[in-house]
Amino acid sequence: MNERFDGSFTQQEPISEAAQAAAMTVLNHGRLHRYNTVGDEVGEVALLEREFAEFTGARYCLAVASGGYAIGCALRAAGVGPGDTVLTNAFTLAPVPGAIAALGAVPAFVEVTEALVIDIDHLAACIAETGARTLLLSHMRGHICDMDALMAVCNAAQVQVIEDCAHTMGAQWRGTPSGRHGLAACYSTQTYKHMNSGEGGLLIADDADFMARATLLSGSYMLYDRHGAAPDASAFEALKYDTPNISGRMDNLRAAILRPQLTELPAKVAAWNARYLAVETGLRDTPGLQILERPAAEAYVGSSIQFLLRDWAAQAVQDVVARCAARGVELKWFGADAPHGFTSRYDHWRYAPGPQLPQTDKVLRGILDMRLPLTFSLDDCALIARIIRAEVGAVFQSMPEVTP
Ligand SMILES: *Cc1c(COP(=O)(O)O)cnc(C)c1O
Repeated sequence: MNERFDGSFTQQEPISEAAQAAAMTVLNHGRLHRYNTVGDEVGEVALLEREFAEFTGARYCLAVASGGYAIGCALRAAGVGPGDTVLTNAFTLAPVPGAIAALGAVPAFVEVTEALVIDIDHLAACIAETGARTLLLSHMRGHICDMDALMAVCNAAQVQVIEDCAHTMGAQWRGTPSGRHGLAACYSTQTYKHMNSGEGGLLIADDADFMARATLLSGSYMLYDRHGAAPDASAFEALKYDTPNISGRMDNLRAAILRPQLTELPAKVAAWNARYLAVETGLRDTPGLQILERPAAEAYVGSSIQFLLRDWAAQAVQDVVARCAARGVELKWFGADAPHGFTSRYDHWRYAPGPQLPQTDKVLRGILDMRLPLTFSLDDCALIARIIRAEVGAVFQSMPEVTP
């Protein structure tokens, strides 16, 4: 009989005992608001900021309410305003163009390559064509582009780079943590990301003026001296009368459960990568299926995996998705005409109209995407790969021909 997988693609690991204990401490004292501290107590949010700054090597860190909030706050603090064009990769998730649109700014999409990263040549062309001064670079599904080449293009054109690291917390490019190349980087601690506080976000940067503005924007009232990794008070002097308070703070309960998770993160990265490798190994040399080879310079976090059915007809890709689903394996397809759940595409975001991007369209038609929660065992991963391999094989064999 055909093997079936019975696990859940959306089930995370439990919150660790250390994190649960930290949460109980906060619940017991009741001081959940980040500025509700006694004496010279340093609150959980401030401690998280200090520890995350240290983890990434950034000078400053600000904890906020969500990853999307971190992006919006970063764009504002970087001076983006209504009518400004912000470039971003065409393959990303809805909160990215959403954060741009929320400012009244205009998202302009850049082509992606078969490696699922921004096309740097097309980026250069878009900069020249639009005159945009800001790139919101989304490291979608953890794929990091050639950051040296990207920064060379952006620096030469004086384009500021804000990194969306929702899928690269714990990853590196050529030994530098993801998020340390641009002006600022945004992380999410929403349940499906690398640390889980339900909702939450972190913003890092080295620039004091930028971070003072972001801190004021986040709703710091005039209590920025209670932050864990903020610039000196002097950085706020020139800004504090002119920066609106757009509340989006993190609270002590979330920070309390995140701090132990930051300690646990390196072990989790290793666990994700072992699972990624198990699936990748099982899928290698499947006729019709292309593995996305990861560059040597990239230290990725394999919390999800993607593979390419290049030049397959839409119906054949949908057949693979349906056949895998029938055996318990949930694949996401970015080629569908209508958005489904978390999966939507640049041309579904009608508030951000733009030209069709033929290269991206071709890539998205062939890309399948799968989450790898840590509740999967290595045996589960091997089983999942066997199922995908069998179903891709069955559909591929029955295809009349693959048109190049
Ligand atoms: C999750 C996510 C975000 C936003 O995070 P939220 O915390 O859900 O607001 C931004 N970009 C990408 C690529 C994401 O996956």
